[in-house]
Amino acid sequence: MSILVTGGAGYIGSHTVKYLQHKGEDVVVVDNLQSGHRSSVDVESFYKADIRDRDSMDRIFQKHAVKEVVHFAANSIVGESMKDPYSYYHNNVYGTLCLLDSMKKNGVYNIVFSSSAAVYGEPDRIPIVESAKTIPTNAYGETKLVIENMMKWFEVAHGIKHVSLRYFNAAGAEGSIGEDHSPETHLIPILLQKLLGQREKVFLFGDDYETEDGTCIRDYVHVQDLSAAHYLSINYLRNTGKSDIFNLGNGRGYSVKEVLKSVERVTKATIDHEVKDRRVGDPDVLIASSEKAKSVLGWNPEFGDIEKIIGDAWTWHRKNPNGYKD
Ligand code: UDP
Repeated sequence: MSILVTGGAGYIGSHTVKYLQHKGEDVVVVDNLQSGHRSSVDVESFYKADIRDRDSMDRIFQKHAVKEVVHFAANSIVGESMKDPYSYYHNNVYGTLCLLDSMKKNGVYNIVFSSSAAVYGEPDRIPIVESAKTIPTNAYGETKLVIENMMKWFEVAHGIKHVSLRYFNAAGAEGSIGEDHSPETHLIPILLQKLLGQREKVFLFGDDYETEDGTCIRDYVHVQDLSAAHYLSINYLRNTGKSDIFNLGNGRGYSVKEVLKSVERVTKATIDHEVKDRRVGDPDVLIASSEKAKSVLGWNPEFGDIEKIIGDAWTWHRKNPNGYKD
């Protein structure tokens, strides 16, 4: 029996593939390599294919005895989603629609979905619980919410069960794999790239937010802890046959300035930076309550310390200053 991982050559995907392999699972990876890196996964069954390509997906489902799908394949840059919503709806929403249809056709009834804290938009209350209102402030978050709703109806009609994991800010790295987006938009890799001479300037997007130091507060979670949550979710589906939604974060927020200071402490360097205008659609504070993931899935994040998260990312970036070779 195999687990099919879509987008398995991406950042969180590749870490999850490695984690599942360590747990003894047989993993099949599908990735169109629009942003993933072939060398980030060490897997025999790798298919360069798009989830919207039904014929290819049928062939993969027919060749392997897939029991569960872990679905990462998506466009994931918030700013880009505001300029090009078509691509986001096409790849994320239509892509998942095709995937669910392929699963139905091939008798695969379990899916773990890579969702996002972006489904919440501006929260009323911190920490954010799963039952909070979902009013996304960007097209990316909206596509993730549409997909969650789509999966609900595929369960009603066809019995496909889903676990939706709403990640807060993924960061960190593990051994030979790490974070390599192009363009990079995330705070921690941007700060590390600056230290490695990979970029000229670092901008802090706004220092007039409703927070103590004026910069946005986010909940950073180690990519290895996220990987573990996917494995637990697969087992939850296997054991209970129930669908559910879980937040994944550490329940502790760090401001942009605090992250900058932590990076400086870990790397023992000073980072020149400039304060710029706010980025459109950035909420002041996003902190997760992950109590549900802990009590229901048995999730026990091990690497919540921000300096551990940054230290692991730094180890990878130092070894791979230009990212992956492919
Ligand atoms: N940020 C920043 N400068 C950058 C990149 C990000 O000040 O070059 C800020 C961003 O405005 C947000 C926080 O860092 O408040 C985390 O942003 P990131 O893009 O890493 O994750 P997001 O919270 O948007 O998912």
